[in-house]
Amino acid sequence: AKIKEVEFVKSSNRPKDCPKDDRPEFAMLGRSNVGKSSLINSLVRKKEVALTSKKPGKTQLINHFLVNKSWYIVDLPGYGFANAPEAARMDWSSFTKGYFLNRGTLVSVLLLVDASVPPQKIDLDCANWLGRNNIPLTFVFTKCDKTKGGKGKRPDDNIRSFLQLVREYHKQQPPWIMSSSVTGFGRNELLLHMSQLRNY
Ligand code: GDP
Repeated sequence: AKIKEVEFVKSSNRPKDCPKDDRPEFAMLGRSNVGKSSLINSLVRKKEVALTSKKPGKTQLINHFLVNKSWYIVDLPGYGFANAPEAARMDWSSFTKGYFLNRGTLVSVLLLVDASVPPQKIDLDCANWLGRNNIPLTFVFTKCDKTKGGKGKRPDDNIRSFLQLVREYHKQQPPWIMSSSVTGFGRNELLLHMSQLRNY
């Protein structure tokens, strides 16, 4: 499950421009500020790898990183950017939905959810859309090192509520992993999970 080598391959602005080989891939998705760049950096242990723009309204790119010459980590634009104009948000959804529905090599979406705050509507909507469309999904709860989240709730409570709220849209509960890019908690579990899914 070890990451020995990571190579940035390309940024695509349309799903059809993505790499055309058969290598399996994992798409990292989440609200802006959820900790996606930090998690990617913590996984690959290389600071300069995550290149995703902080302005998803402006740069909507699908970034492919090739790991160990055999599988991809795909960095998708963050969603729910509070000050993105409506048009940019709309674009985001058709753009990303096209990717999810047509990418045959997608092993699982890793949907990042901030465990330090109570469930957010936009994350629930996203999880539910993926569930309804039968897109393989893993929840990765971020910032689990934060002991006090919004409204004084702890990560455990926020995670439990989230999993409860998404239940009806998934035939089976998607696997879920707790993580922290600050302490490295969950890193090995996530790497192992991805390696098991690839070899399945
Ligand atoms: P992105 O917009 O999803 O790429 O989020 P970033 O990785 O840039 O992180 C957003 C903010 O959350 C930054 O201030 C990070 O330092 C912080 N952050 C990210 N991951 C963690 C984490 O695991 N624990 C804590 N406490 N903060 C985190």
